[in-house]
Amino acid sequence: MQVRTEGIVIRSTDYGEGNKIVTLLTNTHGKAGIIIRGAKKLKSRHGSLSQLFTHGEYLFFRNSGLGTLTHGEIIESHHVLREQLDMTAYSSYAAELVDRALQEEDASAFMFEQLNACLNAFAEGKDLLITTQVFEMKILQAAGYGPEFGECVSCGNTVGTMSLSANSGGILCSRCAYKDAQAIMLGDGALKLLRLYQQLDLRRLGNIQVKEETKLQLKAAMRLLMDTLIGIPLKSRSFLDQMDRYSI
Ligand SMILES: [Zn+2]
Repeated sequence: MQVRTEGIVIRSTDYGEGNKIVTLLTNTHGKAGIIIRGAKKLKSRHGSLSQLFTHGEYLFFRNSGLGTLTHGEIIESHHVLREQLDMTAYSSYAAELVDRALQEEDASAFMFEQLNACLNAFAEGKDLLITTQVFEMKILQAAGYGPEFGECVSCGNTVGTMSLSANSGGILCSRCAYKDAQAIMLGDGALKLLRLYQQLDLRRLGNIQVKEETKLQLKAAMRLLMDTLIGIPLKSRSFLDQMDRYSI
């Protein structure tokens, strides 16, 4: 079967003499693995189509399993994302999340658009952390773990200080927070932003100004959600953590 689709390279590995196997997140066929023959040859026309984060149009043959690329055109090479260390680190994390944490049936056209918007936001110089957190929320929602931020998940209370409880899938009010020893208290700013993350389509992400204190709370909150609900150790995540430690 011949497939023509738009895709973004989320994984690229060497295969045999000069070939590459890439995984694409496509806008019509979920995640698709394809062999790109001769991708590593210097003069290969297809070389750039196999690079991580490349957004292109891909034409390939597939019966079952891996497809074989026959033709492709680059829409956006995203080379800036491969050249700057911090952008590379965050983009690698977004790509690895899609590769490892997103189930095949959840790899929708909407998620393709969200990854595309995420990489574009990085390239445009938008806040790397905030952009990544919105993307993490889209992953959680796609995987069926979208948290409840409207009211206390235990008693329905909507007033007072709220804590985030990943174990209960949402927020707990001050009366109920004792039910989860891991719950972390959220300031008004952090809760407001978490609600925004949930509603936001990344294609409409503007420049969000966030106080340092709120950023720290958001960091802890998103980390707790991702570790508890997704819980897959990712190489790119460890690298981000290392970068974080050295920059402080
Ligand atoms: Zn409550």
